[in-house]
Amino acid sequence: MFRVEILGGVGEYGRNCFYVENAGSAILLDCGVTNNLEKTLPSLNREHMEKLEAVFISHSHIDHTGALYVLDEWGSHAPIIMSEQTADQLGKFHPKTKTLDLKTYRKWSVVNEHIRFRWGFSGHLLGSVWYEIELNGETIFYSGDYVSDSYLHKADLPDFGETDYRLALMDSGHIEKDINNPDTLRQLLDYIDKTKEGPFIIPSSFSGKTADWALYLFQNGKREIFVDNRLHAFFVAYENAGVYLKEGLASLIHTFNQTCLTQKFSFDSNSICFVCEDEEMIERLYEACPNAKLIVTGYSKPPLYEQFNHEGRCIEFFYKTHPDKADLRNLVKQIRANEWIFFHSPYVNELKVFKSEVSNNRPIRMEDRIIPDHINCLFDCSISSKSGY
Ligand SMILES: [Zn+2]
Ligand SMILES: [Zn+2]
Repeated sequence: MFRVEILGGVGEYGRNCFYVENAGSAILLDCGVTNNLEKTLPSLNREHMEKLEAVFISHSHIDHTGALYVLDEWGSHAPIIMSEQTADQLGKFHPKTKTLDLKTYRKWSVVNEHIRFRWGFSGHLLGSVWYEIELNGETIFYSGDYVSDSYLHKADLPDFGETDYRLALMDSGHIEKDINNPDTLRQLLDYIDKTKEGPFIIPSSFSGKTADWALYLFQNGKREIFVDNRLHAFFVAYENAGVYLKEGLASLIHTFNQTCLTQKFSFDSNSICFVCEDEEMIERLYEACPNAKLIVTGYSKPPLYEQFNHEGRCIEFFYKTHPDKADLRNLVKQIRANEWIFFHSPYVNELKVFKSEVSNNRPIRMEDRIIPDHINCLFDCSISSKSGY
């Protein structure tokens, strides 16, 4: 029997974790906690754990990996499959980790006699991947967190039409938005170029977005860029992971690192400063630089940002780190699945609206495939915290 259990991540922004079982074998797709202070665990129990034959990790963010320690503590024997970059970023070594061999990109890899899988690039972060997994003859697609138009990071999909999936699990993190990332970058640069007074402070996290912005502004802008020490290792890793990046970026990244990671932080009117999203640091900068402008990129809005905003010193350029509505429409057309689970958004309960929009767009006969009514019950989850990656 084919069975799916949503252990977290649907109707909420965090603790992504999905249990899929077929004919007595089971897998887990990601194993995250909520991004808030509570770090709420997914609804995983020992019964799930005992049947697991493999755990597939899409990328290192805590909402996809924060509960892996529970499997370790319970003594799970299932291999934990992830990219080498994800393993490096996690730092903590999980004894069952098995890293992806780059030679297997888009090719079948065998886990055991019940499970085989293929993987590709999901564009969200260095080392982030999607999986196509065959579990005792049923094939599923798992997007992980997906960005179709990152400036630096490659994103692809399985070959169109090759597989009819039993189930697709799709990141819908920005389903309520309509954003074009290249346009956002151009608007950002235009704003910086036209604004004489600086410096510009960009609160940054360990995310593909941070690298996209920094490298774009370095390549196309005129100002000096400074990077918080705590983010240096993040940028250095880009030098050794070219396979995850679009073509022709190696020398740009090398020059960026040579230039921007070596100079001492300075806050003159010419500088752009990428600093960790840490309120104490931002507060210090707020007090030290009365001219500083804060540039924000996503959902996170601590009270201090309001203070900047109040003084006309905060501007937002929302950059996609998940699929928006238009991306989802395209993804649903590309991936042919009998059932869908849309996750990573407090808005997935509104997917009935999305369903009718997709149905109007009919290059392939999807009309009776998208979110069949019996799957809609899966979206009846309570809405919780919106903060996160
Ligand atoms: Zn993520
Ligand atoms: Zn996520």
